[in-house]
Amino acid sequence: MHQPSKVLLIYTGGTIGMVQDVDSNALHPFDFSQISQEIPELNKLNCEIETIAFDVPIDSSDICPNDWNRLANAIKENYQNYDGFIVLHGTDTMAYTASALSFMLEGLNKPVILTGSQLPIGVLRTDGKENLLTAIEVAGDKNAQGKPMVGEVAIYFEYKLIRGNRAHKTSTSHFDAFNSPNFRVLAEAGVNIEYKNHHIPPFGNGDLNVVELHNQGIFVLPIFPGMSQDQVEFVLESDKNWAILMMTFGAGNVPMQPWFIDAIKNATAKNKVVVNVTQCMKGKVNMSLYKNGQILESIGVIGGSDITSEAAIAKLMYLKEKTDSVEKIKEQFGISLRGEMTV
Ligand code: ASP
Repeated sequence: MHQPSKVLLIYTGGTIGMVQDVDSNALHPFDFSQISQEIPELNKLNCEIETIAFDVPIDSSDICPNDWNRLANAIKENYQNYDGFIVLHGTDTMAYTASALSFMLEGLNKPVILTGSQLPIGVLRTDGKENLLTAIEVAGDKNAQGKPMVGEVAIYFEYKLIRGNRAHKTSTSHFDAFNSPNFRVLAEAGVNIEYKNHHIPPFGNGDLNVVELHNQGIFVLPIFPGMSQDQVEFVLESDKNWAILMMTFGAGNVPMQPWFIDAIKNATAKNKVVVNVTQCMKGKVNMSLYKNGQILESIGVIGGSDITSEAAIAKLMYLKEKTDSVEKIKEQFGISLRGEMTV
């Protein structure tokens, strides 16, 4: 048997951390420092587990960039002392947090695995136990050379390990709640954990640097038939928005009314970043496919390929922290920085 791996578990909140009071049946967060009392199976893993927790556990709908900064800094402070990290997180915004961390943790070459559950860990049919136990196993898993099997931010949920910035929450009710519509899963857990690509290359060299993110003027504009000119112009013209993420039809199409195209043209002429991401779950934006897309390209819209909206938002926030040059942001957006899109 190998030396036990050391895994740091960071509890932020969410459904997974709840237990049911036997008398009242009410759910309340449990004390994660007592985790092995709640899940005695943890003692059977060949892993030393330590835990830290947010002072006040949060529902993940309340997560904001400041919480990502806390998480990223906690990982940085403990980076040398652990083989891997688990972030216990509510499912609602888990894909956003995973995407954000994937960019913020520059140089990462150890596993940072986010997991949670659809049912609280303290109820009988919980999916939380399996999710947590296997996530810990993945976080501590090493290859024959003693290197981590996974060197990136990922989500483990219901037998699948998914690249964090490719993940999307697809179900409110099924245990199988996350998918990776445009990129193969990193691993599948059955009788064994089968890593799909043993060559999952870490994006970094282990020299960890945290880029903190802040609230910025990014706005998401879903395109739908019958949008009003006033509203579209309001969003595209507002000085509060430096970047607009258009969620478009199919392979990146939008209405071709002159007022709509003019509104975009005015925004890009004012040095705003306008990104084109498809509303479709699968496939990618291809702006050279239709006349429609070609026009968008010619007026400075950036194609988002198959990036998820979660990852696109995080990438824009990250790039804004790195540079004020719109040209650089546009150029960098088109590059896959952490495997977040197919180029
Ligand atoms: N609302 C919860 C959260 O995201 C749901 C969950 O944990 O699954 O924190």
